[in-house]
Parts: sequence; C-alpha cells; structure tokens
Amino acid sequence: MSQRIEYPEGGKKITASADGRLNVPDHPIIGYVEGDGIGPDISRACLRIWNAAVEKAYDGQRQIHWAELFMGEKAAALYDGDYFPQETKDALKDLLIAIKGPLTTPVGGGFRSLNVSLRQELDLYACVRPVRHYAGVPSPLKKPEDVDVVIFRENTEDVYAGIEYRSGSDKNQKVARFLREEMGETFFEDAGLGVKPISPFGTKRLVRKAIQYAIDHDRESVTLVHKGNIMKYTEGAFRTWGYELAREEFPDQTITEEELYATHGGKRPAGKVVIKDRIADIMFQLMLLRPNEFDVMATMNLNGDYLSDAIAAEVGGVGIAPGANMSDTVAVFEATHGTAPKYANQDKVNPGSLLFSGVMLLQHIGWVKAAELITAAYEKVIGAGIVTYDFARNLEGATEVKTSQFADAIIDQMQGTIDIDRIRREREEAVEAERRAREQRRVVAPQEEMVASGRVPHTVSDLMNPNLVSMLGSTTVEDAMHLMRERRISSVVVQPADDDEIQEWGIMTQRDVISRVVSAGRQPNTVRISEVATRPLITVQEDVSLFDCAEMMGERNIRRMVVVDTQGRPIGIISDTDIFASVEQFGLPE
Ligand code: NAP
Repeated sequence: MSQRIEYPEGGKKITASADGRLNVPDHPIIGYVEGDGIGPDISRACLRIWNAAVEKAYDGQRQIHWAELFMGEKAAALYDGDYFPQETKDALKDLLIAIKGPLTTPVGGGFRSLNVSLRQELDLYACVRPVRHYAGVPSPLKKPEDVDVVIFRENTEDVYAGIEYRSGSDKNQKVARFLREEMGETFFEDAGLGVKPISPFGTKRLVRKAIQYAIDHDRESVTLVHKGNIMKYTEGAFRTWGYELAREEFPDQTITEEELYATHGGKRPAGKVVIKDRIADIMFQLMLLRPNEFDVMATMNLNGDYLSDAIAAEVGGVGIAPGANMSDTVAVFEATHGTAPKYANQDKVNPGSLLFSGVMLLQHIGWVKAAELITAAYEKVIGAGIVTYDFARNLEGATEVKTSQFADAIIDQMQGTIDIDRIRREREEAVEAERRAREQRRVVAPQEEMVASGRVPHTVSDLMNPNLVSMLGSTTVEDAMHLMRERRISSVVVQPADDDEIQEWGIMTQRDVISRVVSAGRQPNTVRISEVATRPLITVQEDVSLFDCAEMMGERNIRRMVVVDTQGRPIGIISDTDIFASVEQFGLPE
C-alpha cells in the first residue's frame, strides 16, 4: 500500500519514558485527522487557533509540526476504500499524540464504528471528558460556574464489551439453558442476553489514571461512580477495586472520605486526594444540585456514557464538550459530536468541541500557557456575544459569525493583552475559597454534609444524631419535656443524681413519658426523670457498622442506642428510624 502519510520536516517525535511520562520536544510532530462532514471546517479553524496560541505563549520558541493522518471518507478515497488504513494505525502508535475531527460511520457492509475500531486497535481504555463552564456560554443551571469535573470513563468493558446473545438464536438458547439448568437462574422466555464483564485489571488501570490525573492537577477528590447497591459483583466490585488500588499504589497521596471525617474531622490534609464513591443515580442529581462537590470521576463504561453527556449538557451542550481516548501512552483527542453532514462545508458550525480537545492536548503535553491563552480568549469572545449559529439561538443580542470568523476573533484576542497570570490567580483563588467554604461545612455540620452530598453512611457515627442531650436524674419530667420539644429530640440520656437510688445511666424517650407518666395519670412536674428512665443504657461503639448495629437492635428488641466513642463517652444517639431512612435512600451498606 502506498505511503500517504508524511511527517513534516523540522519536527521531532514525542517519546514516552518507561513510567509513561512524555518527553516533549519544543518542535513535536503531532498527528491530526481532519474528519468528515463538518470536520474540515472546524479542523481548519482550530489548527489556526492552536498554532497562534503556541506562537504567542512561547514567543515562537515552540511550534507543533502537524502530520496529517487519514481516517474516514478521506482515507477511503486515498486508500482504495480503506476507512482506517494500517498506515494511520502505525502512525498513531508512533506519534503517541493525535487529534481528530468527527468521522462518518459507513453504513452497511458490516463496518464497525470507526471510533470503536480506533479504541480497540490502540487499546485506548480511558475516555477522558473534562466538563466545565466557560463564562458567557448559555446554560440552564443557576450557577453553571460550579461545574468543573473531569470524567474518566472505562472504555473496554461492561455491557459494551459486545458479549450479547440475540433472542431465539442457538447461542442464546445454549447460554439460557446453562444459566437455568446449571446455575438455577430464572428469567422470562426468549430474553435477549448480555454479559457485563468488569475486571480488577480493567478497573484498576482506569482508576490509576484518574488518581494520577487528580494528583498532577491538584484536584481535590476522585469519585468512584457505581450501582454497587444493586450489582454487587460488577459495579460493587469496581468500587472495591478502586479503593484497593488507591490504598495499594497511592497510600501517601490519598485518603478515603471515611478517613477525612473520622480521622481528620472533615479537614482535608494538604495535597491529599480524597477517594470517595457515589451511587450512579444520586450522582445525576448531585451534578445538578451540588456540582462543586465533585472533581475527578472514575466510571464504568455505561454510567460514564450517560453521565458525561448529561453533565456536558448542563454547561452548554455536547457541541463544545471536548474529549480524549487514552491508553498508557497513546492519546487521541477528539470532538465529541458527530459529522453534522447537513452543515458540511458551510463554514457555519461551532468549533468549540475540537478546539477544547486541542486545549486538553496542550495541557497533556505540558504546554499549559498556550492552553490557558485559548481559554481566556474564548471567554472574551463569547463574553462579547460573538458566537456561531448554535449559541446565537440561545443568546439574545448575540452576533452570529462563521466558523472561520470565530477563529479570527479568538486569534485577535490572543494577540491583544490577556493577563494570563492574573486570570490563573483569580481562578485559583476562587477554587480555594470554594474548597475552604466546603471544608468549613464538613467540620461544623458533618452529618448534614454527609446527607446533602450524597455520601452513603457505613458506620454508626456516620448516621448518629450528635445532638445528644443528657440531664440529671433529679430533673422533673416537665422540664425535660420542655427541652425535648424545644430541641426537637425524642429522647434524653439520664445521668444518675447523687441521691438517686439506682446509680446507673439510662434513657428517657417520649414513649416512656406517655406510658409511664401521662397514661399513669401522674403529674409531670412531680416526677423525676430517673424514675421514668429505662436502664441499663444500651450503647454501641461509634465505629460499628450499620449492619451490625441493626442486628443488635433486632436481637435486643430496642429502637435506639446511645453511641459511645472509644473511651466509652456518649457522643450521639442512633435510632431504627435513622437506619430505615438510610437503607431506603442508599441501599444496604456493605
Ligand atoms: P451530530 O453529527 O453530532 O449532529 C447532531 C446535531 O448536533 C447537529 O445537527 C447540530 O444540531 C448539532 N451539532 C453537532 N456538531 C455541532 C457543532 N460543531 N456545532 C454546532 N452544532 C453541532 O450527530 P448525528 O447527526 O447523529 O451523526 C452524524 C454522523 O456523525 C453519523 O455518521 C455518526 O455516525 C457520526 N458520529 C461521529 C462521531 C465521532 O466521530 N466522534 C460521534 C457521533 C456521531 P442542530 O441541527 O440543532 O443545529
């Protein structure tokens, strides 16, 4: 097959060290695939912007030497119908870094999607999608600036692995027979069947990448997203293996959310990345209600597919969301939208998605200043109401421009006076202030924060009501009732008074007052609470699991337990209602 790909002269290849770190020369060769449909329009515009940014940021000391690679329709024309020629595969592996426009999936002829082929051929196991808001971009959220996350989606496993058996086929019947007869499973006749493989290997290499990213970019947390409450051995295992990887490979750089609260009182130790997990459906809610709680996310294939588009839609739509697919060394950056064929060659569409994929690329190779320059110029242009047709639809008073004019406007801005250092400082200060405010809430009201931030409680101390009130046994029931109503509590812990006959702690609940005082016809102002209290006080240690606590309540047939710390000091109270509400909301904890 003829050689169509030429590496530009004057450029040098990027290489990778044994630990995967890139060695980037000042004149690297980087591959680009123009793409089909609107691909040429947006690629042309973006190449101009990227080149201008690099030139400006490094005073001409650095320059990308672009090597055109061929995929899709352009490849088919050049390579005799081959949509993804071997030469391109080889070049992608050889150059390590490339960027591509959207590609048409050829219809018929049994073609796999080119994007799927690309991921499989190069084992690009991590799909990385940063989603943040840019000032001026239309959004349905009240505070879209709170969204700033990077999603690491596993790309090779899960129900997307392609292990499926069509209803009625021989293979389907064979698998169904095995599941019914050998495994004792039950399901409806003629059900289509699919397999959901999730492996420790696949999980760990993805989570490793996410944690490394968080460390390298001073991110606060990595959230493992899963439905482990329902699918224990796949989604639940993803969670378990994720924590395991963090513990094994990043013991000094990470802490778990449990430790954040239990050991550090809600204060994140400097430089540590907090590893937490959230149930997938709650994640969708939280990204609308409290998006600033989240930073880097690691997800399995299907959850990540839904989640990344949903979050992108919150801050301006998939039209501007960038993305990349990565292996340990190779990274292919790409526009996340399709080829929009009806707009092809009209110089009309928004180049944002490809543009920001290029920004990601620049960050990936460590050329951060050029990346920041583009982002700052973009916000200025959008802020001035200069937009392509898609944003113009949603922005009143906007000036609609062509793709190429939009690129001109950004390049003009970059040539002007943009104070990158000030913008970076302001952004860092805003992030820091936001982090401090959240930390303050974690320290002051840990319980409220736990529930509001969607954290699944595991131990008694996660769920207990710390609003524990103890009163001397000599207090009258009437005084205790006033206090209980005022504080909205349903029980008080009773401390023995010196003259009490029984020198033992107890508890008095609303129910005790009703059954032992009111229905007995006694006057609350004449009865001491020590007479009404139930003894002995049944306690549970703060670090006991909710599961064990529920079991203890069941065995003893009681509804509340006083929570004590490791020194035996009462620190809170937990009731069966608390556990009921938690299980109803989050499922049964492990
Ligand atoms: P699409 O190409 O993403 O277009 C759907 C709609 O999204 C467009 O009609 C347009 O909306 C809007 N849009 C997409 N890109 C835009 C841009 N840069 N600026 C402004 N608006 C943009 O999806 P599709 O029509 O379903 O797919 C078309 C082809 O693309 C198919 O062959 C598909 O296989 C392929 N595809 C490729 C990739 C990829 O290579 N990564 C991904 C997805 C799809 P309005 O009509 O509202 O203006």
